[in-house]
Amino acid sequence: MESLTVLQNYINGVWTAASTSDALEVTNPATAEVLARVPLSSMVELDQAAQAAANAFQSWRRTPATDRVQFLFQLKILLEENIDDLARTITLECGKTLTESQGELRRAIENVEIACGIPILMQGYTSEDIARGIDEFMIRQPIGVTAIIAPFNFPGMIPFWFMPYAIACGNTCIIKPSERVPLTMHKVFQLLEKTGLPAGVLNLVNGSKQVVDAILDHPTIRAISFVGSTPVARYVYSRAAANGKRAQCQGGAKNPVIVLPDADIDMTTRIMADSAFGCAGQRCLAASVAITVGSARQLFTDAMVAAAESRQVGFGLNAGVQMGPVITPQSKTRIEGLIQQGVAEGATVLVDGRHPVIPGYEQGNFLRPTVLQNVDPEGQIAKTEIFGPVLSLIHLDTIEAAIALVNRGQYGNMACLFTSSGAAARKFRYEAEAGNIGINIGVAAPMAFFPFSGWKDSFFGDLHGQGQQAIEFFTQTKVIVERWQDWTRQF
Ligand code: NAD
Repeated sequence: MESLTVLQNYINGVWTAASTSDALEVTNPATAEVLARVPLSSMVELDQAAQAAANAFQSWRRTPATDRVQFLFQLKILLEENIDDLARTITLECGKTLTESQGELRRAIENVEIACGIPILMQGYTSEDIARGIDEFMIRQPIGVTAIIAPFNFPGMIPFWFMPYAIACGNTCIIKPSERVPLTMHKVFQLLEKTGLPAGVLNLVNGSKQVVDAILDHPTIRAISFVGSTPVARYVYSRAAANGKRAQCQGGAKNPVIVLPDADIDMTTRIMADSAFGCAGQRCLAASVAITVGSARQLFTDAMVAAAESRQVGFGLNAGVQMGPVITPQSKTRIEGLIQQGVAEGATVLVDGRHPVIPGYEQGNFLRPTVLQNVDPEGQIAKTEIFGPVLSLIHLDTIEAAIALVNRGQYGNMACLFTSSGAAARKFRYEAEAGNIGINIGVAAPMAFFPFSGWKDSFFGDLHGQGQQAIEFFTQTKVIVERWQDWTRQF
């Protein structure tokens, strides 16, 4: 990959080498091939980016919204034209299949499209004559310099839950991608450069904890959008708040799915297999626990075993592959350890995906789908985020008991129900304590015009990413009360 040997940062419209020689290798998780080196930038680079963003904000906020979105229209076209190359890059550095990478990019593009509506989305409101001859109105203004800190599992999509809205609203922004998958954003920024976006409006700083801490403490940065694991989300939220910043921090998940006896088992299994094993289980909306109720148990279990056993595992660029590797050897070891812990807690391994051999890819971080039965609802395996292709089966006798188990969970990112009963569906969506609900849906990913609504330990903050909530997050309201009296006339 031409100049990607040591990645550069993009600060103030210029590709710049980091001042540090600290760097990590970016590896292809399917082959262990080193794709590039990513610098672990320091406070120095972050400060340069923050200064550039602060300077750019002065004229960017004065650029009419209708002009600002022209850069996003350009970006949409460039993303569409380059979708194959970007998808290939995601597959190479992140491991998911090419189809999954293309799907991820479609979601990114949808957020650009929605943000192009900012001239209307950002409008305020007015009341005439709140008292005789006095009018009051609310306008939305940008907040200034914002920052986005992203995880490894959707390198092309997650920064787009925030970035198009941030800049469309008139803010400037710094993106810090995951140090494990920095190549995709590198390519996105090469496209952004072609749009002619003014220097400093968007900046890219590579690195890890040191850059995150510098973002959290930098006095110029006003708002932080974070997505990653719950311990880091909690940390980022607390430290950002202590420094007087706005923060929206999306954390980890452990997503339960209830299968009722009246569910269409064929459809349920097909959808559930994709939810549990798609992206190798490394989705924050992956189904992780399936709770079967009553007679759903045997049919669903048999069908899931067949689906898990037949899933084609391999290098995501190869035709026919349905599941790629997990991100690192450490992830693979951790997941295998959690499967063993489930066994120690009394679970039966119906399909064992540990230690697979994928011919030609012996160095890759591969697992095959795993299905565990008789998982202890109160055990660690039922509660811990595995973030791998492992589905735990729990059996309960009633929907009430199943919903109670869902609601005892620490996380609240997603909960799903499979049924053909409208009454059961209503009860579930009313009572389930999760921010994203699926009814006969396995990955209830909100479209760009809805908020990505995690609850409990899956989210710290109040305004979520995407849609109207993103506009609220990236603007501050100003209320004006005005009296304009014509002193020369009597009305
Ligand atoms: P992570 O928490 O390890 O890293 C996320 C980001 O935080 C990265 O940019 C990383 O450089 C930085 N970081 C890591 N450790 C840090 C520390 N100690 N201090 C400061 N910054 C730190 O997460 P990950 O492994 O990249 O991503 C997987 C996690 O993200 C899973 O838990 C998954 O559920 C979650 N996730 C959640 C959502 C959601 O919408 N809720 C979406 C995608 C992923």
